[in-house]
Amino acid sequence: MSLETLVSPPIAAASPYSPTEFDAYVINSYARFPIVLERGAGCRVWDSEGRDYLDFVAGIATCTLGHAHPAMVNAVNRQIQKLHHVSNLFYIPEQGDLAKWLVEHSCADRVFFCNSGAEANEGAIKLARKYAHTVRGIANPIVLTAHASFHGRTLATITATGQPKYQKNFDPLMPGFHYVPYNDIAALEAAIAQLDADQPQVAAIMLEALQGEGGVRPGDRAYFQRIREICDEKGILLILDEVQVGMGRSGQLWGYENLGIEPDIFTSAKGLGGGIPIGAMLCKSFCDIFQPGDHASTFGGNPFACGVALTVCETLERDNLLQNVQERGEQLREGLRAIAQQYPALVAEVRGWGLINGLVLKEETATVSADIVKAAIAQGLLLVPAGPKVVRFVPPLIVTAAEIEQALGRLNQSLSNLSL
Ligand SMILES: *Cc1c(COP(=O)(O)O)cnc(C)c1O
Repeated sequence: MSLETLVSPPIAAASPYSPTEFDAYVINSYARFPIVLERGAGCRVWDSEGRDYLDFVAGIATCTLGHAHPAMVNAVNRQIQKLHHVSNLFYIPEQGDLAKWLVEHSCADRVFFCNSGAEANEGAIKLARKYAHTVRGIANPIVLTAHASFHGRTLATITATGQPKYQKNFDPLMPGFHYVPYNDIAALEAAIAQLDADQPQVAAIMLEALQGEGGVRPGDRAYFQRIREICDEKGILLILDEVQVGMGRSGQLWGYENLGIEPDIFTSAKGLGGGIPIGAMLCKSFCDIFQPGDHASTFGGNPFACGVALTVCETLERDNLLQNVQERGEQLREGLRAIAQQYPALVAEVRGWGLINGLVLKEETATVSADIVKAAIAQGLLLVPAGPKVVRFVPPLIVTAAEIEQALGRLNQSLSNLSL
């Protein structure tokens, strides 16, 4: 089969698919928008009625190379024909090669692979707890996390997540977490002083370099630099959750590069596989203290996921996508700021890094982000809320200048349709 046929399969007449039938079988744990997506190419997807959308969701900051990218199509086909899964009872070249790429392109020395962001964060929390017990002699280690953070949906990671709405009705939560306001160094220092008053208890500080789900809030450089000093002074581990902002989305390969610091441990997932499920927990050699039997994942690091993710990484580098992320990000923020000026009663600010940007709504307006997302979908633009007052823009990293322009036009049209 030629690449052309793989990339652009002949499309038959649109096939109607009923959301009602879907709801009869699938557990209703998601609030879904009422469109049925069937195929994609680049930064566009098509619904079951043949309508096209500019995809500025990208599978929630995941489809790094967009849809049906020839390099990914090739990698998927190559790997499934060669070897797709064998377990970690054996050596896997693709896993080793991906780990090598990540180590050579980050501050980390070693990598553990899993399948999702929550799982990567679980690994980071386990590693930090083991380090606290075995290296620092802390009996009841505490991990500090931030209000408005998001770290996943497992029991430990909803506990780490500093947002009560994700924890409600799932208690008892995991012990060993404590919350501080984000970007507030005085509050952090006060919390450590209080928790460590009698004996050291704080094992790790776990933060996003930019808070994604919590409202596209970039980390403050001075805050993170002071945290790095505190961690160095006290032997506390600094864990950065790079699940959303990492893998080039910020305009740098890793979010921490925007902050001028290096974490001891960091996690990656969303963009790493370009939409193929994979997660990674990376650490420096001094805290690489896991031994055989300490941690594992049946699917983690299999040849399929790692082979495809390595192709995503190499394509990002070969096609110089970081530069595209920086330029298109500038263009997008400029356009959003121009739109914001047209709607001063609605929009408070535009913020973000690279191609993770938020249109922040005024607290006092009755409009919520989901209203704008719905209006945008009606105009053929997919967006995703980041909380009730922020509309998030996370297109594939291959997005073109023309696509940004078109998306801004469709957004403008949707806002005027909302007649604000
Ligand atoms: C999405 C996200 C997670 C959770 O990732 P899953 O793959 O859904 O488990 C964790 N942390 C951050 C910052 C995220 O954006």
